[in-house]
Amino acid sequence: MGRWSTYPVWGWGLPGEEPDPAALAALGPAVRPLLGFDAQPPERPAPLAELPAPRLRPPPPLAAIAAAEPLDRARHGLGRSYRDVVRGLRGRIDHPPDLVLRPRDQAEVAAVLDWCGDAGVALVPFGGGTSVVGGVEPAVGDGWAGVVSLDLGRLAGVAEVDPVARAARVLAGTQGPALEDALRPHGLTLRFFPQSFQRSTAGGWLATRAAGHYASGPTHVDDLVESITMVTPAGVQRSRRLPGSGAGPSPDRLALGSEGTLGVITEAWLRVVPRPDHRAGALLGFERFEAATGAVRALLQAGFAPASCRALDATEAALAALQPPGGQAAALVLAFESASYPVEAQLELALELCADAGGKLLERGERAGGAWRASFRQAPYLRDQLVLLGVLAETFETACTWERLDGLVASVREAVGAALRDACGGGLVACRLTHAYPDGAAPYFTVLAPARRGSELAQWADVKRAAAETVLAAGGTITHHHAVGRDHRAWYQRQRPEPFALALRAAKDAVDPAGVCNPGVLLEERPRPRAPER
Ligand SMILES: Cc1cc2nc3c(=O)[nH]c(=O)nc-3n(C[C@H](O)[C@H](O)[C@H](O)COP(=O)(O)OP(=O)(O)OC[C@H]3O[C@@H](n4cnc5c(N)ncnc54)[C@H](O)[C@@H]3O)c2cc1C
Repeated sequence: MGRWSTYPVWGWGLPGEEPDPAALAALGPAVRPLLGFDAQPPERPAPLAELPAPRLRPPPPLAAIAAAEPLDRARHGLGRSYRDVVRGLRGRIDHPPDLVLRPRDQAEVAAVLDWCGDAGVALVPFGGGTSVVGGVEPAVGDGWAGVVSLDLGRLAGVAEVDPVARAARVLAGTQGPALEDALRPHGLTLRFFPQSFQRSTAGGWLATRAAGHYASGPTHVDDLVESITMVTPAGVQRSRRLPGSGAGPSPDRLALGSEGTLGVITEAWLRVVPRPDHRAGALLGFERFEAATGAVRALLQAGFAPASCRALDATEAALAALQPPGGQAAALVLAFESASYPVEAQLELALELCADAGGKLLERGERAGGAWRASFRQAPYLRDQLVLLGVLAETFETACTWERLDGLVASVREAVGAALRDACGGGLVACRLTHAYPDGAAPYFTVLAPARRGSELAQWADVKRAAAETVLAAGGTITHHHAVGRDHRAWYQRQRPEPFALALRAAKDAVDPAGVCNPGVLLEERPRPRAPER
């Protein structure tokens, strides 16, 4: 990677992992057999356009933690949706922060919030920057004197482990691999693996109510929380460490999913578990996706809690190399894990239920469905390559109750398929279930289509709108785990009950009276008089 590469601004990998021309040349010819349309000649990322000069200077006590280098500001101007990746590789940063601030402790977080309130500066918390919903892009109104990105990267690590209660005090900026590395010597794990695990942070997971890729049992990070510390402009909210509490509405629930609008999460006590050493898995084929999802429902309603329970439609199964391109079978990747007892017997019973639902056993063993797991880990890297080859590549997800599932999936396929034909001239809509519950499931859609270079953002907006409208009309949620951010706010406003909207607004006004915390996320930004030119 050249010294001036913009890969850190838009790409998934580390600097040395930028897709090179040879990799792109090798992938290009594989696109048509897999996706049904041709790749385009590889695009070369453009240099970064000149950013507007920062409007802010940090006050002297914060100068040591402030940065204004263009690449740094640019990286903090984008998340990781398709729209972000396209803009980043064109060198286009629509809303760079004026400064990036990296607090080293909670007191510095509080000092930044104080300064922002006094100086009329908007603040956008930044964990790993993997938001796919415009959560970290400082797209705020023009009434602010400036906007800062508060990067939690220096507030990282596991500060304490309690082996008795089995919990760990985790600082907000800790990324997935560092967290697991710190727990491993204790024989413990958080067992929380979102697909963005490598880059996303504990604080980001809590702020967005992320969901890991254990498909049943505890899915959202909510279930792993013992206590959260959040610094708000009105003071520090720290809840007691408790295994459960019935004392009124939960302060942790207020912080969970607040997406930086109420303050900055600095740390949390999270429940950890012994590392599993018993595993059993299987890969099954089904004639139809509906039969595979029916098997998942039967399993969950019978009380099974598989660690993996991925129903994939035929397109997903082909994308994950579980069958050749064009194959018509749906698949189910099933696995059980335990730290305490062998799980083969559970798998045996689960396979009987699956057979009743029409499943055919294709592979059995600890590593069954390994191709799916490998493709799951590689997907963010592959997306970088596909976008460079002119493929519109995006995902969206929802959840609904079982009785609505087939109808919702069918209507999303139809509406998004039509939007793709109009906007892109064709493309694929693939579906899998990422999470399952006794009363419903979370369908996750992958869209791959020929992009029209220069019009990608309009194409993306058309497809996104079609998906969101259809999901809401079919009784789903605007997001099961990707969060609301700025991109989903219009649909979130229609989904949430009005009294709750009033209560949320009042809560924000109470703890963030100047409205500095991530304006425009979850709630519409209050208009402010235009800031004077400097
Ligand atoms: C390839 C890919 C795969 C993904 N897979 C999953 C998945 O499997 N499951 C899932 O749930 N999500 C997934 N996501 C979405 C994203 O990774 C999650 O939303 C994740 O929780 C964001 O964490 P982060 O640290 O990157 O937060 P960021 O993207 O930095 O921030 C997300 C939001 O939280 C706010 N925020 C961040 N840190 C704090 C803090 N300490 N205090 C207050 N507010 C804060 C930000 O302002 C922003 O609004 C995926 C994204 C990508 C690009």
